[in-house]
Amino acid sequence: MVRPTHAVVDLDGLTANYVAIGRHLAAHEAAAPPRIIAVVKANAYGHGSVPVARALEKAAADGLNTSLILACADIEEGVELRRAGVTAPILVFGALSVSDLEGVFDYRLTPTVSSPSAAEALERAATLRGVRIAVHVKIDTGMNRFGFRYDNLLKTLPQVTASDHIAIESVYTHFATAEQEKEPLFGLQQTRFEKIRSDASDLNIENVCWHAANSAALIRDHSTWYDAVRPGLLLYGVVPSPFETPLGMELRAVMSLRTRVVAEKGMRRGETAGYGARFVANRPMRVAVIPAGYADGMDLRLGGRGSVLVRGRRAPIITVSMDSTTIDVTDISAHPGDDVVVLGEQGDDRIDAREIAASVGTIPHEILCRIGSRIQRTYSRETVNP
Ligand SMILES: *Cc1c(COP(=O)(O)O)cnc(C)c1O
Repeated sequence: MVRPTHAVVDLDGLTANYVAIGRHLAAHEAAAPPRIIAVVKANAYGHGSVPVARALEKAAADGLNTSLILACADIEEGVELRRAGVTAPILVFGALSVSDLEGVFDYRLTPTVSSPSAAEALERAATLRGVRIAVHVKIDTGMNRFGFRYDNLLKTLPQVTASDHIAIESVYTHFATAEQEKEPLFGLQQTRFEKIRSDASDLNIENVCWHAANSAALIRDHSTWYDAVRPGLLLYGVVPSPFETPLGMELRAVMSLRTRVVAEKGMRRGETAGYGARFVANRPMRVAVIPAGYADGMDLRLGGRGSVLVRGRRAPIITVSMDSTTIDVTDISAHPGDDVVVLGEQGDDRIDAREIAASVGTIPHEILCRIGSRIQRTYSRETVNP
């Protein structure tokens, strides 16, 4: 049984995006293109982390891009991938402080060490097991979230570098303002990161891989690529605003959200629709109902702001409630059973995550991640219900 409201995830599109990103990197850094750390956190931005990871692994195995690394937010997400049989290296971005570290060892995950106390806890756990664990070290160059402060490393980093049981494989940072072209913090963070790179031997960090770029940084500035890049959004076929798709990098939107009209009725002039009677018909209208609401990830603020596609045309959204949404079909002859596209293409038109994000004042990442757990995902290549 597939509910009328469901998401379609185009795994071939995902693979094509992965390859397109790889080509873009190789076109500019022919000698040693950076590796791709494919970000599959938050259930692969709502696309389903297991099918997404498997599709990327298959692409890597097919020789399309052989040096795949996956990244997730926490140990639990990494364990889920391993339990599903994913074998590629998995980097865990999040803090380790309150986590059970067992999963890191039992499931061969690569943790991020982002504080002296995390290094200590990991050192203790690795010593008990008599193993040496490879880690990425995170430097906070201005985000003020996770990471060793950039200006204090001589004091804090020896905790990690002196350990016999921790091997630093990579050092990375994360940009706070990669999407804001005029924000000087971006350049400042890069300068701080580069200073650490040039001081690496004083800090006892040798033969490590350096990485910094999320999707926006990858697009806007080659000089942030270093040894690896960490695209999330781009993999799913969405270019972060305000940037345009780079020349020659064709991307396909991977997720679409589809539903059907389940009811249709007339409204007289002056009548109201929905909770709070906030919408008032200023003319005789036809409205249709679709069985998808905010519990499915439709933003409440889309009422009066967004549209969906019915019969290849745009139907303005009137109100969003928990399980359903009403749309204005006065100028479209819509009927129960008609296919409706909330996110994706119909006819010659498309509504993408960027457009929806802009209409409610958020970023496309949030639009994708919020597609609710009630929504069944169907996969264009294999049918999996994760
Ligand atoms: C989420 C995340 C990314 C990916 O960001 P996009 O904007 O989706 O490309 C990269 N690096 C880190 C540390 C992240 O947390």
